[in-house]
Amino acid sequence: MRSTAIADMRPVLLTTLLALAGSIQGAQAAPQNLPVPGGVAVVPLNAPKGQAPKARLGDAPVAVIQERGRWLALVGIPLDTPAGELPLTVESGGNTGFVPISVRDKTYPVQRLTVRNPRHVNPNPDDEVRIARETSVLTQAKRHFSAAAPQTDFQLPAQGRLSSRFGLRRFFNGEPRNPHNGLDVAVGTGTPIHAPAAGTVLNTGNYFFTGNTVFLDHGQGLITAYMHLSRIDVREGDRIAQGQQLGAAGATGRVTGPHLHWAVFLNGTAVEPEAFLAPKR
Ligand SMILES: [Zn+2]
Repeated sequence: MRSTAIADMRPVLLTTLLALAGSIQGAQAAPQNLPVPGGVAVVPLNAPKGQAPKARLGDAPVAVIQERGRWLALVGIPLDTPAGELPLTVESGGNTGFVPISVRDKTYPVQRLTVRNPRHVNPNPDDEVRIARETSVLTQAKRHFSAAAPQTDFQLPAQGRLSSRFGLRRFFNGEPRNPHNGLDVAVGTGTPIHAPAAGTVLNTGNYFFTGNTVFLDHGQGLITAYMHLSRIDVREGDRIAQGQQLGAAGATGRVTGPHLHWAVFLNGTAVEPEAFLAPKR
C-alpha cells in the first residue's frame, strides 16, 4: 500500500464529485446517490477507462459499474452507520487509497406491529436451532459477490401500494426487533412477483422468518430477495430476464398478512430498494 495514494486521489475525486453531482441525479442506470444509513452512495472513481478499479468497505467487496465511460462505486451503507466519514478502500493501477464518503444522518420512523404467532416474536429452543442454521444460509446469500456487471435500473416487482417502507424501527408485540430491512408491497396471496432486473437465482427456500424466499444475484454483490411467497416458480441457477415471474405473493413466515417483502443488498448490507427505481416525476 502506498501512502501517497491517499493524498493523490482525494483532490481528483473531490473535483470529479463536484463535476458529476448534477449529472448523477438524472442518470438512467445508476441508483440514486443517497449517502445516509441504509442508503446507497454513488462514488465516482478516478481510473482509466479499460481498467476497472476495485473497491471495498471494510472486508466486503463493493460494486463498481461503468456508466458513460466513468467508473462508479455503488456503496451500500449499513443502517447502523453513524453520521460522519466512511472510508472506502479503492485499488487502481497498483495503488491503494481511501475515498471518504460523507454519511449524513437519517432517523427512520418507529413502527409497532402485532404478530399473532408468539413464536415469531419469542422463538422456542427448537426454533432457535432452525433460525441459527438458516441465518448462516441467508447471510451467505446476502454477501454473495459475482463478477457480472449488474443491471441497476429496477422495475417494482409487484404492482401495489408501498405499505411499510425500508428502515422502520420495529417493535413486535411491544418488543424491539431488527429494523425493517426491505420494502413491503401490499399485494394479495397469488399476485405474480416479477424480477426487477436481469439476474440468476442464487437461492430458494422456506425460512422461519421470511417464509418462501427467492434470492436473485444481479452481479457485483447486488442481491435482491422476495419473501413470504405463496409459491416459488424458479430454481437455483436459473437465468432470469427483467420482468420474468419468480413466484406469487403470500403470507408465509413472520407476517401480519399477505404482502411482498422486497429486500435489496449491496456489499452484504440491506439498502433502500427505492434507490433503484426511477424517481417519481
Ligand atoms: Zn417487510
